[in-house]
Amino acid sequence: MNTIDKFNEHVMGTYGRYSLVMDSGSGETATDDNGKKYIDFGSGIGTNSLGYCNDDWADAVCEQVRKIQHTSNYYYTKVQADFAEKLTEAAGMEKVFFGNSGAEANECAIKIARKYSFDKYGKGRHNIITLVNSFHGRTITTLSATGQDVFHNYFFPFTEGFIFVKANDIDDLRAKLDDTVCAVMFEHIQGEGGVNALDQAFVDAIYELTAAKDVLTIADEVQTGIGRTGKFLAGDNFGHKPDIVTLAKGIAGGLPMGACLTGKKCAGVLTSGTHGSTFGGNPVCCAGGLEVLRKAADPAFLAEVTKKGEYFRKKLSEIPEVSGVSGIGLMIGISLKTKDAKEVAKSALDNGLLVLTAKDKVRLLPPLTITYDEIDAGMKILADILK
Ligand SMILES: *Cc1c(COP(=O)(O)O)cnc(C)c1O
Repeated sequence: MNTIDKFNEHVMGTYGRYSLVMDSGSGETATDDNGKKYIDFGSGIGTNSLGYCNDDWADAVCEQVRKIQHTSNYYYTKVQADFAEKLTEAAGMEKVFFGNSGAEANECAIKIARKYSFDKYGKGRHNIITLVNSFHGRTITTLSATGQDVFHNYFFPFTEGFIFVKANDIDDLRAKLDDTVCAVMFEHIQGEGGVNALDQAFVDAIYELTAAKDVLTIADEVQTGIGRTGKFLAGDNFGHKPDIVTLAKGIAGGLPMGACLTGKKCAGVLTSGTHGSTFGGNPVCCAGGLEVLRKAADPAFLAEVTKKGEYFRKKLSEIPEVSGVSGIGLMIGISLKTKDAKEVAKSALDNGLLVLTAKDKVRLLPPLTITYDEIDAGMKILADILK
């Protein structure tokens, strides 16, 4: 039986998959099982931040897997300590909890926000404001937090306690930020929602209005973090530090990891027995993450991400079919005048280029290490499709 038939016979059909079996990758190029090569403008979904099988990263991961691949979180490991030190330093935060995905990182943030409020104010101040069109994950609670009606189906009952505010609508935020609210949770650039950056004025308003009421700020940087926007955190582009930051996707270069970081205010909220994860902070993932940070936390590397982002944007602006380019750095949304984004993604695949979509846009999340030659080669394919 061929791979696709075998796969479909045994794996649940939760994805609309392309008919293609990925086999290997090197640098910014993936190869399928027929030997066809693809320039990668998607990096998984923003996960392979250093491209495929980067040598330093692969060495660090392999060395760790031969040393100790896992131990219970009842013990300490040096590699988790090293990674936590570097990560909190790069993010400008105080403490971290490690899980295995973005959804888990957000679950942790939600638990911290509610417990912070419970410890200080007692019951009843548990609501969390999130934004319309947001995306926060696939667990029941993070689906509940996601401000898109299409996700609030089938799995009833959903978790209570989320209030949706229109992105960039300061009046709506002010009206809904009442005494039942313990936190405001937001993506600086809504990723799945269509690569839409928040207005600076709205982000300013979030910080101003929450500070007055001891309401926490939670930045979901699962997609925008770890250098994606040319700053280590997307929030750094807006000049504010939230109380809680969540990270995942690109954090460990393609290994499963999520992290929930807090500043001083919430550093002591989760105490022994209040949260946990069997695999969280796995040594192999931490070793991969350390290698990602060695590169992506370096200001010179981040400046390159910004320059490459500008280069992409300039090239895209020269394509007549493109009506707009959104996002920051190497998080890029492309609005099209007449063509359908999903059709474009399919043609790109046929022509040896991997791109993503988000709502009606073509979305690019290339590896942060992508070279100008690869950008040129990929952009030529995209430009030809958009002719
Ligand atoms: C992908 C994503 C998530 C969910 O991450 P998983 O690792 O799939 O659980 C949450 N928030 C944002 C902003 C994301 O882009």
